Amino acid sequence: MDDVILKAENIHYSYDSDKKALKGVSLDIHEKERLFILGANGSGKSTFFLNINGVLKPERGAVYYKDRLIDKSGIKELRKNVGIVFQDADNQIIASSVRAEVSFGPMNLGLSREEVKKRVDDALNYMNIHHLIDRPPHYLSGGEKKRVSIADIIAMDSKIIIFDEPTAFLDPKNVVIFEEALDKMSKDGKTLVISTHDIEFAYRFADRIVVFCDGNIIADGSPIDVLDNEKVLKTANLKKPILLDVFETLVEKSIVTKDIVPPRNIE
Ligand code: ADP
Repeated sequence: MDDVILKAENIHYSYDSDKKALKGVSLDIHEKERLFILGANGSGKSTFFLNINGVLKPERGAVYYKDRLIDKSGIKELRKNVGIVFQDADNQIIASSVRAEVSFGPMNLGLSREEVKKRVDDALNYMNIHHLIDRPPHYLSGGEKKRVSIADIIAMDSKIIIFDEPTAFLDPKNVVIFEEALDKMSKDGKTLVISTHDIEFAYRFADRIVVFCDGNIIADGSPIDVLDNEKVLKTANLKKPILLDVFETLVEKSIVTKDIVPPRNIE
């Protein structure tokens, strides 16, 4: 199955009997891609994430991780390899020190004391927050908490990292720090799946964009294919990125040629 790392096949899920949150979602996630998920509040993005990391069990349909159908015996491996960084770090962080917080996942994997210590040191260094190791997480700034919650997942060595609206609570300075961290994770071979309402961020950063609407996927393609499609934008109530508008104006005026494909090919 080429480079597909996770396959979701016809996933259905309902919280209540009268309303479906997911209505048959199928999606292949490729190794090392930067996949963005767009869609209005309530369109099913978070429910989908919880179905593909084993927290929720699909009502119908199947999840495959590296070609292996996930049944009861595969849930542990799935949860280890598909980490979620939640929108609000306060909902994710549970321990009373940063060290304890980041140790929690590796300890649950049954690793030795030395290995847990190494994982924690490495994850905190990775996120440039080793100096916070003895601090109580709840007194950290929003940007620091976000980095702790990412270190949690890095310490698990998850291959796929899902970010549920990661920039929602960050100020502009921390958005820059966060994007640099994402870039590093991507270059280090992580598969990134990111939901956001920040269309400019998606346009700048995505390899591929998928759009959810009312429990279904209504678009799947390159950033330009999806974000230049009037019908998709209208159906999902999305705005075209300003950067893409600017690019098209430059092409119209023959200042650049269309084959440049912004923004990542312009460096
Ligand atoms: P999104 O992440 O795109 O905002 P969600 O997956 O959170 O969408 O929500 C999809 C649908 O499921 C919505 O109708 C929402 O109200 C409902 N829903 C989400 N979480 C719960 C829950 N814990 N209990 C009941 N309904 C829920």
